[in-house]
Amino acid sequence: MFLNVYEVLFKFFGPQNWWPADDRFEVCVGAILTQNTSWSNVEKAIRNLKVHGYLSPERILELDSDILKSLIRPAGFYNQKAERLKIFSRFLLESGGFESLSKLSNYSLRETLLSLKGIGKETADSILLYAFSKPIFVVDAYTKRLFYRLGLIDSEKIDYDKLRKIIEGNIPADITIYNEFHALIVRECKEFCRKKPVCENCPIVRMCRFYERKG
Ligand code: SF4
Repeated sequence: MFLNVYEVLFKFFGPQNWWPADDRFEVCVGAILTQNTSWSNVEKAIRNLKVHGYLSPERILELDSDILKSLIRPAGFYNQKAERLKIFSRFLLESGGFESLSKLSNYSLRETLLSLKGIGKETADSILLYAFSKPIFVVDAYTKRLFYRLGLIDSEKIDYDKLRKIIEGNIPADITIYNEFHALIVRECKEFCRKKPVCENCPIVRMCRFYERKG
């Protein structure tokens, strides 16, 4: 069923080409900055960093904290996020960069990322999937809402890792599918399965228990 949902969404929306970034460090910066804000705000903050030539771990580390805060201000919570970017940049440099960290097993890299201040499960898994190409499914509030409404899980308050493992157990461990499926869930929930759902033209309406009950 999970795979069916993926296939119908993919057929309907097409490839989403995530994560929108020029390199892996930019993916990580985006994953940190997107906490509690919209992607359009993140784009403004990333643009500021890029325009001034600060989008590298070395430059972020040496950058004066107040200047960093002002550059990422559009993404909100700029005090916390500036600190998180510095912590992540230091970690990346001290660990030998992406190549060296890639050699760690999926879960030891996950644990390492989760041990960094301000990196929660969704951020860590976004970094693992989109920057390190590790087959770990990214769960977010959209994922919980959608699969709950479809009737594939019993509660929208399901534990993060429990849902991640259910999805991982029901789709092939294929990076392309993981990558696209998460992006497609976000797209579906922004266009159709909103807080107040727009069911009539939803591509997965025939699979949906919520709609069945409603109708
Ligand atoms: S039919 Fe409605 S509730 Fe079901 S997935 Fe689509 S938008 Fe969401």
